[in-house]
This record gives sequence, C-alpha cells and structure tokens, in this order.
Amino acid sequence: MDRVLIAMPKKEDKRKLAAYWASSCGGCDVGLLGLHERLLELIDFASIVFWPAATDFKYEDLRSYGDGEIDVTFFNGGIRTSENAEMAELLRRKSEVLVAYGSCAHLGGIPGLANLSERGTLFDTVYRENPTTKNPANTVPKQVSEGKFGELELPGVNEKVGALSDIVPVDYSVPGCPPPPEITEDFLDLLLENDLPETGSVIAGGKTVCDECDREWNQEAIEELKPPGDVNIDPDECLLDQGIICLGPATRSGCDASCPSVNRPCRGCFGPPEGVEDQGAEMLNSLASILQIGEEGTGLEQERELLGALPDPLGTFYSFALPVSIFGGRVEDGGTNEHE
Ligand code: SF4
Repeated sequence: MDRVLIAMPKKEDKRKLAAYWASSCGGCDVGLLGLHERLLELIDFASIVFWPAATDFKYEDLRSYGDGEIDVTFFNGGIRTSENAEMAELLRRKSEVLVAYGSCAHLGGIPGLANLSERGTLFDTVYRENPTTKNPANTVPKQVSEGKFGELELPGVNEKVGALSDIVPVDYSVPGCPPPPEITEDFLDLLLENDLPETGSVIAGGKTVCDECDREWNQEAIEELKPPGDVNIDPDECLLDQGIICLGPATRSGCDASCPSVNRPCRGCFGPPEGVEDQGAEMLNSLASILQIGEEGTGLEQERELLGALPDPLGTFYSFALPVSIFGGRVEDGGTNEHE
C-alpha cells in the first residue's frame, strides 16, 4: 500500500492510542514494536495514552478517561481470566475503535487449545502433576488467600478461553501470531487517512494463503502424511503434495504465504478466510478431496488410517481458532456443546 504524507496535527488534535495485553505471550506487543521507526513517525500523529507492556500506566489512568475518549485501542490476548474480561469491558467503553490485535484476541489463539480440558485438570497438570514441579504441600493458587500482609485477591480463571468478541463488540481484527508489521502499518495508514473499512472487517486478504503462495499445487493424492522435519522439502512444490499438512487452503490470505515461502507449513494463524466459519472443518474438507475420501472406488479405511496417524489432529487443524470454531472445545459426555 502506498504511504500518504499527512500534515502534522497540533498536539491537542493528536489521536489517542492505547494498547493492552490480556492472556497472551507478549509477542503481539513485540509485533507493535516491529513497526521500528514508523512507531516514531506515529507519535507525531498520536499520543500513546495507555500501554502497560511498554511503560508504567495504571488502571486508574485508564479509568480517568471519558467514555469513547481513546480513539483506538489495540487489544491483544485472549480472555482467560476475570481481569481480562473486566479490562475488555473497560477498554470497550473508553475506546471509539476497539481492535482485536493478533490471533489470541481475534480467534482465542493457541491458549484456546486449553478448551479441550476442564479447568480443574489444567490446574492439576500445572501445579500437581507436572514432573518438573515439586509441590509437597499441594498448593494451588486460590482466588482469595490470607497472607502476611492481609487478604490477597487474584483474578478468577474462567472455565474457557474466549476471543475478545466473545466479551465485547469488536470494530476491527488485525490477524496473525503476531500480526506482521506491514499489516499493522496498513491499518495505521487507513486510520490516519480516515479511510477505515466497514466495521467488523478483518484487516488482511479475503482469499486463502494458497492464493498468494508461489508453490506449484498439482493436487496429487497423498499416500502418507509426514512431519516437516522428516522431509527433504522441495522448495517449489506444494507442501500438501509432499505429504505435509499445510493449512494454506483454510487460512485467510494477507501474510504473503510467509511460512510456506521458507519451507514451513502454514499453521493457520490468520484464521479462516472470508465466508468460512470453521477453519478446521474447512481444512478437513480440503484434505478429504486430496485424499479422495468418500469418492467411489477409494479405500475409506485407508484414508481414515492416514488421518488417524496424525499425532495431534485437533492441535493441527485448530491451532489458533478452536474457541471460535463450531464446537468451541471439549464436548461433554452426552454430546453437550459447551460453546452454545
Ligand atoms: Fe502453498 Fe501450503 Fe497452499 Fe501448498 S497448501 S499452495 S504450500 S499455502
């Protein structure tokens, strides 16, 4: 996208920007820093009024702003705790435009794979059964506990990880794990030019990663699925043709096929393309056509066996988008869909 020179505003006319991390790894904040010198350019046009990961802001600072006073908030991370949800609601109220920034805020992200387990099981795994954890007193974090200095209250841990849009209305999503700086720059350019697209838009392409991948896809029937590390990868041939699961057919475009271009399969961090509700189901659909599942004259059992050999099918097909998928996570005994 061409950059447009804009007259520098007076201090009082500067936009107010905020950034916040909820349940995230910190990569999205590093992604914002990936703007490098453009970040300096940005502060000619905007004041950063709240960004706890970068400098010392308190929640009181945020509460002191009027409703809608912050022009844009970049919210990264999923909603795992009561604090995440409270901050999502507060930032929604204070912000004219709320952006789900990165895969976790947009889709629930990798932490959303925890939705395959009950919260109690997660606590047991982390605090009691982890072979590298010594916990003879069987201590687990409690929401309220008495300490030397009085009562200590921690945020509650929700049963499920959610996307930002599960809690509050979201104006735009900037996808990626983390979002590539070019896409963040495009968003900022649109913002500064007052040219933002329709509310609800995902700031990326609408097609699939395959549409921007230079590899040749011959749609060959796959006989064996292989881990990428076991293959001497041909740099020109489609990874699926080489028996490597690549989520390109089920993933939104906009990254210039950055992973396949360096011999890594797409893992789906941009989420499903336009018009697709469930990324994992879409990928299974694409695979089925390559594996010729269900077609007359093919060995269905053989095909099932091929997919059954995948060590982690849910983690493979729903790495980033499980919380926003149709089934959302663990399906309880009796088939209850907890996402409903
Ligand atoms: Fe490229 Fe992967 Fe699509 Fe093949 S499946 S064309 S490697 S993005």
